[in-house]
Amino acid sequence: MGQIVLQLSNETLLKMKETYHKFLIATPPGALFSARTANTTITAYKSGKVLFQGKTPEVEANKWGSALPNQKHAHKKKETKHRYLPDQDLFTASIIGSDEAGTGDYFGPITVSAAYVKSDQIELLKELGVRDSKSLSDQSILDIAQQIFLLEIPYSLMILPNPKYNQLQKEGWSQGKMKTMLHDAAINSLLSKISPIKPDGILIDQFSEPHVYLNHLKSENKILPDSTYFITKAESQSTAVATASIIARASFVGEISRLSKQVGFTLPKGASAKVDQAASYIIQKKGVAYLHNVAKVHFANTKKALSHLK
Ligand code: MN
Repeated sequence: MGQIVLQLSNETLLKMKETYHKFLIATPPGALFSARTANTTITAYKSGKVLFQGKTPEVEANKWGSALPNQKHAHKKKETKHRYLPDQDLFTASIIGSDEAGTGDYFGPITVSAAYVKSDQIELLKELGVRDSKSLSDQSILDIAQQIFLLEIPYSLMILPNPKYNQLQKEGWSQGKMKTMLHDAAINSLLSKISPIKPDGILIDQFSEPHVYLNHLKSENKILPDSTYFITKAESQSTAVATASIIARASFVGEISRLSKQVGFTLPKGASAKVDQAASYIIQKKGVAYLHNVAKVHFANTKKALSHLK
């Protein structure tokens, strides 16, 4: 199946809707209208983008305009070469993407999600605002996550609660190993969820060199699933990874508000001086041992919080 995207004026969109009025079908969320002819499904969005999908999408698309040129990433940072880098094709294929949240935050768990996005869902997810969750406010993350759930995108979610995190850390696990095992668990759980469907590939937002990831897997007698790729900043190129990043972030936001209720005040995110103060306050009110329930205690914030109390 091929697809073509055109950028068209509002006037043209109105004309199109008129032309296809006999072929209109249910409008997907976020779209203006959708029509299906004998060989093409046409979906128009408020932004003026129109998606033509089918065996010969050019038949209809050519009536309205010429395709958008492929956007080149002119000022992209040079990627360290390794054999697990994806081809450009993977970004428009039906793939599993995985990403995590909470790794740099003193309070709260690490959350890792994997999401399976089919190629014909990419444009709609983009229209719904699915992009790198780091550039979005907590509220928009929760809103967009809601939309993702409504679309019933298959996903999995792993949450590593603080007590377990601290225990593994004490046993000598690096954060890199924890992340590796969480990504692996999320991906495998999703692979069985969508079985017998096999994704065109699996893309992990790269957080360590692939050989380090592979060594962690090996240390727990696991192997990398077929067609797994790694690239840094994957969420900016792959909608599947961006979807996973939103789900992981939404879960992290939810966990932080749950833990905030538990401690009785709003826990700050990140690992700043504000976080040290919050940790000091918790130590004063509940004792230092309590931090094991809500924080990644090996972070320097614990020492700083203790030194504030002296
Ligand atoms: Mn990431």
